Amino acid sequence: MQEGEASEIWFLIGSQELYGQETLAMVAQQGREVVQALNEAASISVDVKFQAVLKSSEDVLQCMHAANSAPECIGVMVWMHTFSPAKMWIVGLQVLQKPIAHFHTQYHQAIPWDTIDMDFMNLNQSAHGDREFGHLTARMSKYPKVIVGHWQDEQVCAEIGRWCRLTVGWAASKNMKVARIGDNMRDVAVTEGNKVSAQIRFGYQVNGFGVGDLVEHVKAASDAAVKETIDVYEASYHVDKNLNKEGLKHRSLKEAARIEVGLRSFLEEGRFSAFTTTFENLHGLHQLPGIAVQRLMGDGYGFGAEGDWKTAALVRTMKAISKGLSGGNTFMEDYTYHFSAAGDLVLGSHMLEICPSVAHGNITCEVHPLSIGGKNDPVRLVFRGKSGPAINVSLIDLGHRFRMVVNAVEAHDIPQDMPNLPVARLLWKPLPSLRDSAKCWITAGGAHHTCFSQSLTCADMEDFADLAGIECIVIDKNTTYRQLRQELRTNAVFFD
Ligand code: MN
Repeated sequence: MQEGEASEIWFLIGSQELYGQETLAMVAQQGREVVQALNEAASISVDVKFQAVLKSSEDVLQCMHAANSAPECIGVMVWMHTFSPAKMWIVGLQVLQKPIAHFHTQYHQAIPWDTIDMDFMNLNQSAHGDREFGHLTARMSKYPKVIVGHWQDEQVCAEIGRWCRLTVGWAASKNMKVARIGDNMRDVAVTEGNKVSAQIRFGYQVNGFGVGDLVEHVKAASDAAVKETIDVYEASYHVDKNLNKEGLKHRSLKEAARIEVGLRSFLEEGRFSAFTTTFENLHGLHQLPGIAVQRLMGDGYGFGAEGDWKTAALVRTMKAISKGLSGGNTFMEDYTYHFSAAGDLVLGSHMLEICPSVAHGNITCEVHPLSIGGKNDPVRLVFRGKSGPAINVSLIDLGHRFRMVVNAVEAHDIPQDMPNLPVARLLWKPLPSLRDSAKCWITAGGAHHTCFSQSLTCADMEDFADLAGIECIVIDKNTTYRQLRQELRTNAVFFD
């Protein structure tokens, strides 16, 4: 998949002319040292670029204009090393259109008890300088992400790294093109939404295509490309024997590979990074894309089934945020429940389209009938998901605004084989419990389609929702139905 250009966070230091050249030179030198340390921190995967020590309203305005227009700049981080009278930030903050973090740190770690003097106090003023800046951002209702602590502290660097990842996701959202192949599954409510509102809010473009546009690419797939793709299947997965070259259903595998080659070509030609399909509109395709969708998700594409473009964009965004982290992200659906005295659980899956990035153990390539859709049997990858902490995230359109609903879950090992269930599957305990989680989720209007993530946390998604300026409802181990009900009422006053 085509990834974005190199990206960087601009590091800006606030000061003023009052202190003289010598002090300002020292501020800049120490700022460069801080930036170098951030770039060396393993937890920060985005380049941090020391930009300037800003001393006036003109400096700030010019810098913010430059940040807006530089495609490689995906966010700015500010630090008031000395006292920077905050009125000088007003005009610049008014024009800034990129995410902003406020790093409240100071150069020294411990107070140098024996040597501290007024020169030291003059140079190191962030304890009050950053509060002046915070007052202004609160006054302007800007609310940057505030990160507090010493720049050499690993946890502080990890928090910066997390925020930098969110800005990568935000840039991916702003630049995203979503291909909606076929329309919505007929009569379904939650997968609908206002695409114009979504583009205004999140930046991504959603455009519809007839399935014939895809079929053209599938027909154009060369035999060599199809063979190469089958070779990859055989090298990567345990391919069921009826699908291999001597098998009775080898034609199905060839057709699946042809669909993958065509779908990949369609997405690359249009520079799409997310897409949807629908089983109700497959005219000209011999089978519903299964393995093709799974493998494209594995390569970083966002996907939503049944025309669900909001989930497709969400999956792509969460994959962009997570790049390089352990654990996968996939399109997901709550499929069926396991009520048990030992603890209620959810079996999550879909007809076909679960991303192999969440797999644990063997992945098999199989073909089975699909009881809906009236097409040939689709080829799919079958596996179990990894156990451990994860989240389910849903993005819904309330008609006049968007809401994100996030549920913390604990994925379990699946002890049973389920030999007759031919789809990838995961099993999890939603927190605080299935009964409370489902009650809260349903009350908040969360969708049945989600992005299931093993690499991101509720806190990540809350911060991302802040970046996008939308409501975020978190259901985790501390959630009670009563609090959630009140939160929805309070939020309605704030957001509506
Ligand atoms: Mn579905």
